[in-house]
Parts: sequence; structure tokens; C-alpha cells
Amino acid sequence: MDLSMMNKEQKEAIVTTEGPLIVMAGAGSGKTRVLTHRIAYLLEEKDIPSYNILAITFTNKAAKEMRERVDMLIKEDTSHMWISTFHAMCVRILRRDIDKIGYDRSFSILDTTDQLSVVRDVLKKRNIDVKRYPPRQFLNYISNNKNELITVKEARDLTTTYIDELMANVYHDYQEMLFKNSALDFDDLIMLTIELFEKHKDVLSYYQNKFQYIHVDEYQDTNHAQYKLVKMLAEQFRNICVVGDSDQSIYKFRGADISNILNFEEDYKDAKVVMLEENYRSREIILDAANKVIENNTERKPKILRTSRGRGEKIMMINADNEREEGTEIVSQMQKLNQEGFKYRDMAVLYRANSQSRAIEDALVKSSMPYNMVGGMKFYQRAEIKDLMSYMKVVLNPFDDIAMVRIINTPKRGIGVKTIETLENHAVTLGTSIYDAMKEADFIGIPKGTANKLAVLLSTIDKLKDKAKYMSVTELVDEILHDTGYLEMLIRENTLESTSRIENLEEFKTVTKEFDEANEISDDLLFDFLSDMALVSDQDNIDSEDRVTLMTIHASKGLEFKVVFLVGLEDGLFPSSRSMDTDEEMEEERRLMYVALTRAEDRLILSRAKLRTIYGRTNYTQESTFLKEIPEELLEYNSPFKREMKSGSKRRATRTYTNNEGVSFKVGDKVTHPKFGDGLITQVKGSGDSEELDIIFQAVGPKRLLANFAPIKKK
Ligand code: ATP
Ligand code: MG
Repeated sequence: MDLSMMNKEQKEAIVTTEGPLIVMAGAGSGKTRVLTHRIAYLLEEKDIPSYNILAITFTNKAAKEMRERVDMLIKEDTSHMWISTFHAMCVRILRRDIDKIGYDRSFSILDTTDQLSVVRDVLKKRNIDVKRYPPRQFLNYISNNKNELITVKEARDLTTTYIDELMANVYHDYQEMLFKNSALDFDDLIMLTIELFEKHKDVLSYYQNKFQYIHVDEYQDTNHAQYKLVKMLAEQFRNICVVGDSDQSIYKFRGADISNILNFEEDYKDAKVVMLEENYRSREIILDAANKVIENNTERKPKILRTSRGRGEKIMMINADNEREEGTEIVSQMQKLNQEGFKYRDMAVLYRANSQSRAIEDALVKSSMPYNMVGGMKFYQRAEIKDLMSYMKVVLNPFDDIAMVRIINTPKRGIGVKTIETLENHAVTLGTSIYDAMKEADFIGIPKGTANKLAVLLSTIDKLKDKAKYMSVTELVDEILHDTGYLEMLIRENTLESTSRIENLEEFKTVTKEFDEANEISDDLLFDFLSDMALVSDQDNIDSEDRVTLMTIHASKGLEFKVVFLVGLEDGLFPSSRSMDTDEEMEEERRLMYVALTRAEDRLILSRAKLRTIYGRTNYTQESTFLKEIPEELLEYNSPFKREMKSGSKRRATRTYTNNEGVSFKVGDKVTHPKFGDGLITQVKGSGDSEELDIIFQAVGPKRLLANFAPIKKK
């Protein structure tokens, strides 16, 4: 295999295949690339069967990309090699053997919305006031415990205060409810895999023998449970290679533990340590800025990172007046860069919080800029999609009460809240599910008419269950929509909304079709499809069309873009106000800044709004602390206000400008501009020489101009 493209340290990491190995290095230094080459090397040079190799990535997209990269390097078929996220790996392991620890093999996987509804249910049953105790708080508590592998029993033993006890009790009820539903949340996937391994050594030893070569990317963001899982798997062969960068640990709020990476050498005394010092991604100016910022963290080991990609352009700083202007200025920079030859797909807008995306989106929409937002309001969270998926879940796992409650009376079939309560109570008394309770409807005081309706639904579900055995997922979706009356309900409704719901269901079928093309009909088909859907993570819908990508910084980890826009550099927003209280959180926030800056290859554009309206409140903002940490000489300023002033005075000198003194403008006036064409005034601010006009031009979109100096004429 040709390793001539790699530097000396990278080569060393690639050929060190036996024993523990850690590659610790800064952003863009080729860590992920080392992993792909190492896997290719194992397959090609060491003749290790792909069956014996495991690679764990942070997102499904990263897994897909890694497989593609390996495929490019070698001829061998790698389709059976396990390259996946922790969660996807655990789903596969549990699907085979979870019955050994008492769960049903057709388990469902809950998303956050489902989890919240379970917590709400639990709180209601315990008469806990959701206003005083927000459900999310319990979810965080539950998740933190699971990430630390603390069971319900242990959590209960640990309680000291009333609140602790309350939390532990909710954890208990929540877990019981999930178990009854044969449902797992994301954290269970890891925790139960460990439980399975601990209770069934034969299962553990099967996987220990299978995975003789283990790789973990982004190791700095593993939590305790993930750490333990890797350690168990690697115990036998000890061929474990982890790569990471402690400066990029940004998931503490999800339990990521930076000490996992820092203690690797303690855990494996014979570990080989490789450092990479050359960054192949970013221009020098960008890297300088990133290095200067991260140097302000005290809790870190200093490291060297240099680039030979050339100095590059200065970092552009946009100081906008408000978030609208921030948006329009970003769009106009995008158009400029596009003319310079950068594709829209090479550009990304990164922000700290999802709520910031709206202002940017508005600007993109206004100027018809193609874009794709990662995360945010997800397609899969829409009611019709959740309904359909709930039907699919019930077909796979009729004991899933959460899904059952969602569909039992959707479309309306005359099964009321009281009936559902009766069924739920009966299920609780008998320790069964609603599905089982439905079978006994006649005997538990449900009126005959309603019982008949339940019987019809039961038989529809059972028939669909049979159909699922020999149908593709797409065919099954059609059957569900038809047999349950769901489609008919939407057709009858015949509103704009119901039409768009039908369209969304159609759109969903492009997803199922893609899945069907890649998978043969089998008993596992529906399970595999639903788990795939459950594992779709924020980062996964980045597409290949020529569109700008919008995403949070968290979602951008591991990725790279030629052009990066990092917006909202204001104290309180980034760093977020929550993190400004303690040094520790501030350092985590600074690592996030480091991640953001180091996504950029060639151009970096930063922005802030002096006045920002967020959650309906408008405030003057302070420049971000992190911005001040970037040396002045690396920055160049772009203020639309300043620029208009300059061009105004130049025009005056050449006497081609139009002096509008004495002309009064008002909102709604139509104007024409020699360069921008026809436009409409949408806002007038200030007076005299500093009077500003916001004008939307048909051809170029919104602009802010000075009333007295801009070469505009009223029409
Ligand atoms: P991050 O910390 O952001 O995850 P990383 O250390 O994983 O970064 P990679 O994504 O593997 O870095 O590499 C960054 C870029 O540099 C990629 O485009 C990669 O192809 C390129 N690269 C890495 N090593 C080399 C090399 N030896 N020669 C040329 N290009 C390289
Ligand atoms: Mg990487």
C-alpha cells in the first residue's frame, strides 16, 4: 500500500497495528485520515479479515465517509466490516442477544420527544407539578446516571435530599415504563450492552474475539459508559487505537469525560503515543487565530500545530447593526465568494445555538440562496411522520404503548380518552401492554361498540404484522396508510395543511425506497429500518447538492469546509451566558470556538450584530470575549455602513453621485439606483447626513444606504 502521501508520524501510527496506540493531535492534523489508512493497511498488508476490524465514529455520516474512504484505498469488499457509531453498534449487538437480559428482541428506540412524553406521564402519575419540575430536568438526570452506568437501584441508594429521591423515583418509573414497552432510549443502548456483556461472558467473549482491531475516532468525547464498553471489548487482544484532541472536547453536557483521553496512557501502560503536528486543512492565518484563542485555556497541554498551506487571506469581521443586517451581509459575501469560484456547497454557516438560525435563514430565503439546514425542526418530528412511524413501531413491537397511544385514535375511530385510560389501567394491573389489554376489551367494562372498534384495529395491526414479513418497507408504508384509514383521513380533510402532510408522507417514501434498494426482504427488515431512523443524527442530512450548509458548531465536529461563516460573536450568545459564570465552562466554550475556527480551510468570516433581538427581546450586545482573543493583525473589518460612506464620498469626488439633500424619503417609496436597479424602501432611520435607508432591490436584495449620499432617485 502506498503510504508516501503520509508524513512520518502518520505512517508510524498506521503501521503500529499491534498493542494500544493513541494519536493525540490538534484539528486537521489527519487523525481521521490515519484511521482510514490504518484500516486499509490492516486489510491489505496484514491480511486481517474485515470481520475482525471495528471502527467507531461519532456520527453516521462520519461512518459512511470512512467506509467510502477505505473502499477507495483497497479492492477488498468491506461491506461486512463494522464501521459505525457507538449507538448503531450497540443496536446490532442487542438485536442478537438482548433477550438474554429479559428484553424483547423487537425493541423500539425512543427519540427525545417520546422520552419527554414518558417523563410527563410518570410525573402525572406521581402528582408532580411540571411547572416546578420541568420534565427536561429529569431526562438530564436520567441520562447523566446512565452515562455513568448508575442503575436505578444505585441512584436510589445514593439519594440524600428530597430532590434526589424525587429524581431517583422518576428514574425508576421511567425505566419500568420503558421496560414494559420494550423500548430503549439512546443511553440504554450503551448501558444495556454493557449489562449484557457483564451477565453473559460468552457474548462478551464472542465480540472480543471478533473485534481484534478496534479504532475509535473523537475519543475525547466519549463518556464513561462508552469508555467502559471499549475497554471491555479490547481486553482480550489489546489492539486498540484511539485518536482525539483534548482541545476539541465539547460534549461535557452529554457526559463526555476528557479524562478518558488523558488517562489512556495510565490504562494501557505500554501504549504508544503519536503526536501529529502538521495541519493539512487550514491556511496559516486561520490556524494562528485558532491557536491563539485556545492558548487562553489553562487546563490543557500545550501542543504544536503548524500548516504549510500558505498564509491565506485575512479573517473577515462583519460588524452588523442588527441580526437582519448580519444575515444580508453574509449573503452578499456568499455571492461574492461564489463569483470568486467557491461553490455554495463549500460554504457553511456555524452558530452556537439553533435559535440563531432563523435570522440567517430569513436572509437566505429573501435572496433565494440555496441552503440546507442540519438539525433544527426535523422532518421526522412532524406529526404525520411520527404517526406513520408509530404505526410501524406497533407493527414491529405491539407492546410499545407509547406508539400505541399515539395511533389508537388517529385517525379518529371513536376510541376516547376514557377507553384508553381503562386499557392503560388494565395493562398496569396485569403487567401487560395496551395491545394485550385490547384483546380483553369485552371483559373490562369497555362498551360493546367501542370494543368492536378496538377489535377492528387489533385485526388491522395483526394483518399488517403478517404483511411485514414479506413486504418491502415502502410497500408496508402504503399498506399502513391504506389499511388504517390514515391516508383517507388526510384526503377527506382536503385542506392546504392536509395536502402538505400527504406530500411529506410521499417524501418519506423516498427514504424507504432508498432503504429498500439497499436491503433485502427479511425478518429483520422493519427492525433495521426503524433503528436506522432512530439513529439518524443531526449531522446526517448534509447533502451533495450545491447548497450552503447551516448547522450548530456541535454538529460540525470532524467536518471541513473551504469557507466558514461563524456568526453571532457576542458575549452571552457565544460564549453563551450560561457558561460565563465558571472558568471550567468557559474553557469548554472556548474549545467550541476552537472547533468552529478549525473547520475552515481557506476563508473564515466572523460576524456579530450590535443590536440583537432574541426570544423577542432587543439588546445592545458586547463583542465576544473570544473575538478579542484573536490578534488584530489577523482581522480585516467589513462594515457595510463604513463601506457605503466610502463609496459615497468617492462618487462625490468624481461628481457622478446624486445629492439627495432636501429630498425626503419614506417607507414604501420606490427608488432606482444606477447599479442595483429598482427597489423599495422598507425602513428609514436617523436624520440629516446620517439618515439611513433600508431598501430591498429587486435584483440584489436588501441594502442599507445613506439617504443623502446614495445615488438613488425616487421613481
Ligand atoms: P479533526 O480534529 O477536525 O477531526 P483530523 O485530525 O481528523 O481533524 P482529518 O480530517 O483527518 O484531520 O484531515 C484534515 C484534512 O487534511 C483532510 O482533508 C485530509 O485529507 C488532509 N490530510 C491529512 N493528512 C494529510 C497528508 N499527509 N497529506 C495531505 N493531506 C492530508
Ligand atoms: Mg477527525
